[in-house]
Amino acid sequence: MATKKQAVGHEYSFFQSVERSFDKAAPFTKYEKGLLEQIKACNSVYQMRFPVKIKGEVKVIEAYRVQHSHHKLPCKGGIRYSLGVNQDEVMALASLMTYKCATVNVPFGGGKGGIKIDPKQYTEEELERITRRYAAELIKKNFIGPGTDVPAPDYGSGEREMGWILDTYTSMRPGEIDAAGCITGKPIAQGGVRGRKEATGLGVFYGVREMCSNADDMKKLGMNTGIEGKRVAVQGLGNVGYHAAYFFQQNGAIIVGLSEMEGSIFNPKGLDVDAVMKCKKETGSILNYKGATKTTKKASDVLECDCDVLIPAALENVIDGANAPKIKAKIIGEAANGPLTPEADEILIKKGVVVIPDMYLNAGGVTVSYFEWLKNLSHVRYGRMEKRFQENAHTNMLSAVESLTGKSVSAADRSRIAHGPDEVDLVYSGLEDTMIVSYNEIREIKKSMKKINDLRTAAFVNAINKIGDSYLQLGIFP
Ligand code: GLU
Repeated sequence: MATKKQAVGHEYSFFQSVERSFDKAAPFTKYEKGLLEQIKACNSVYQMRFPVKIKGEVKVIEAYRVQHSHHKLPCKGGIRYSLGVNQDEVMALASLMTYKCATVNVPFGGGKGGIKIDPKQYTEEELERITRRYAAELIKKNFIGPGTDVPAPDYGSGEREMGWILDTYTSMRPGEIDAAGCITGKPIAQGGVRGRKEATGLGVFYGVREMCSNADDMKKLGMNTGIEGKRVAVQGLGNVGYHAAYFFQQNGAIIVGLSEMEGSIFNPKGLDVDAVMKCKKETGSILNYKGATKTTKKASDVLECDCDVLIPAALENVIDGANAPKIKAKIIGEAANGPLTPEADEILIKKGVVVIPDMYLNAGGVTVSYFEWLKNLSHVRYGRMEKRFQENAHTNMLSAVESLTGKSVSAADRSRIAHGPDEVDLVYSGLEDTMIVSYNEIREIKKSMKKINDLRTAAFVNAINKIGDSYLQLGIFP
């Protein structure tokens, strides 16, 4: 299996590199070897080849769905549309989903899908045909369903594809009352949840903010607490990278570097994220952005720029043994899955760089997917039952306070205080709480185990403990 990692001269694949991180953490847990092997292994791998008629000719499409762990069901994880898709990559990404769900207490096993195509080479109609056929293959083999396996968007796919998959599912399984829960990341009109689109990027922001709020940890890095004024660079302006950059900027960070496939742009005084996106949309490239002081044709240049926080938000293995020594950031927030190789990890630990690991930091997407799935199973929008009730209760409380004190609250304060939660408010609040609680679980493990010197190993220990206990409680079938 050729993988990107082998292409840059490593001896092991992406899946094996996840296994290496797991093996580093395993000695800090209490489980016997066999159970650890079971936790690591991919439970089901479905490799498919199906025909689709493209411009009058039959094209054979290579695709996958991997269910890494059945310790909790359904399995959960996105579907990647990319020419880089191969079995090893999908296995690695599915395994990361298992650890990710455990990290943020989302009660799912890990899964991942992949379709080996470059979506840019196909028309919308062709993509719909490929997607619907892929969905039909999953349905035939019971690899999709609200209680078995629930896909979502990933690199190269989005709301539109999820809508096609749901429609294929409901036409092949008519009458299933919970059908909408067979997939997440759907358009709102098809049962999606408000806040899902920006969830991964917003989760990245919440996670880095939580790390930066700890005065002791920041002192060790020689930095001030808080996000305000931090110099942030983001590699990749897809859904995750864009939203992460946007929320950092909204909260007072200075976006000093951004990159897309065609190259990198810089400005130590700050780039305006929305203006850069507008420029990309209008001219086809971020390199035409007038507000940059420096522009280069290498996407990877952004990784080495002078910044405080670096957010790789594209694909795996972008920071390896070769460029890790050149990284200037003191904090790396892994918005992508697997952006660092194990060599890079070791080099950065020695340099004293804090790496906030993917299995925690980009878990906002699956967290809000969980909220979407719950919404679909309960068949009611968040906030529908309580919004008005809470508004009335808050208004009554304000009126009581006003009459007791003889003072009156301003109209602006009144509307802020009385506001009952909408769906998006509840989703953001659930996501924020998840990211704060999960970070502190990982930090506590790192603090309490003196031999652990990185957050990734601590996050793996945390995840393995939860999955291991869940296996032990299930009992292993004789
Ligand atoms: N593809 C996303 C991830 O890697 C989201 C998965 C999901 O929502 O199920 O985490």
